[in-house]
Amino acid sequence: MLSGFFINITILISFIFLFHRLLYKTPLSTSSPLKQKIAAGTASGMLGLVLLAYTIPLNETTIIDLRLVPVTLMAVFGGWVPTIITGIIVAGGRLLMDFSLSSAPPLLLIALSVVSGGIIHTTVRKIWRRAVWMIFLTNLYMTVTLSMMLAWTGWLPAAGFYLLASLAGTGVSVYMFVHLDKVNQMFIRYQYQAYRDNLTALYNQRAFQELLGQAAEEYPAASRSLSLLVLDIDYFKQINDTYGHLEGDMVLKQLSHVLVASIRPNDMAFRIGGEEFGVILYDCDETHALTIAERVRADVARTPFIVAQRSTPLFITVSIGVGTYPVPGNSIEALYDMTDKALYQAKDQGRNCVCSSEASG
Ligand code: GH3
Ligand code: MG
Ligand code: MG
Repeated sequence: MLSGFFINITILISFIFLFHRLLYKTPLSTSSPLKQKIAAGTASGMLGLVLLAYTIPLNETTIIDLRLVPVTLMAVFGGWVPTIITGIIVAGGRLLMDFSLSSAPPLLLIALSVVSGGIIHTTVRKIWRRAVWMIFLTNLYMTVTLSMMLAWTGWLPAAGFYLLASLAGTGVSVYMFVHLDKVNQMFIRYQYQAYRDNLTALYNQRAFQELLGQAAEEYPAASRSLSLLVLDIDYFKQINDTYGHLEGDMVLKQLSHVLVASIRPNDMAFRIGGEEFGVILYDCDETHALTIAERVRADVARTPFIVAQRSTPLFITVSIGVGTYPVPGNSIEALYDMTDKALYQAKDQGRNCVCSSEASG
């Protein structure tokens, strides 16, 4: 009996873990897309079928199973749609096992649990409160059903054991669900933060290194052209000195918007230093890269930047270095170095201009 119980708990935990890897990267909830609800309901129905196959023997005459736990889970997290789908699949499985009059009480039990689950989901807001309601109601239905079918010496221990098993099964499952939802959300958030710049929400230096490294491996090998822009704001220190660091930050933020709007949709913009930005231009030869760089330069120069301490907008300029594969050595370091040199040449030429690594040698 105890081993049957542990097998069921293990099945629940393994399936819930798998579902969270495959189906619940965004948590299942009332507002989940219909597609996710249908997938969740189907997956939970399958889980119900597996649980039906692993019944827990209580004694020679009585067996119980945890088929109602997946129904409960869908009622707690997903609402009507996945709960009904789970119910239909579990009921179908039960009918396949035994298509006779004796299937009527178990089917009624599933139907009642599904309807109760839908109502509880819409009327009770808190997850754990929904779970407690479901445990209470499914146990009530189970006890009544058992008491109609068995003498009290039979139904009383069965109902008692079912109460314990459903408490443990539902408790562990809901805990796993909540915990894995949190883990998934945290993973997505930290992954985002690891590759984004806090201030501008552009990709950061780490993402720049990785994506440039990837592209540098793939593009030359496939004879596709790849270009790089490195841009630096001209006389940015003066802006900080005049209006303060916070206003400087606002200028950086606004510049990131201008930059993203100015490049092509598939190009990627990065903040690679304090007031230094990088753009990877995919499938872009030098001539095209120079055109894009010139567009960025001109867009920045004509954009009025809002600075709280000024009554009139501020106009800033950027200097841009352009580099294109192939470069001597064909390494990302070489490409970056040459582009950076081109940027310094643009600074030397008086700023607010574009220079290419070809031209700068
Ligand atoms: P140049 O035209 O030669 O590029 O002149 P510049 O003043 O822009 O160059 P410099 O390197 O002397 O100054 C860059 C300034 O950028 C200095 C630093 O205070 C500022 N800076 C770096 N990171 C940040 C940041 O995150 N926020 C703000 N507000 N300023 C920053
Ligand atoms: Mg600068
Ligand atoms: Mg700089």
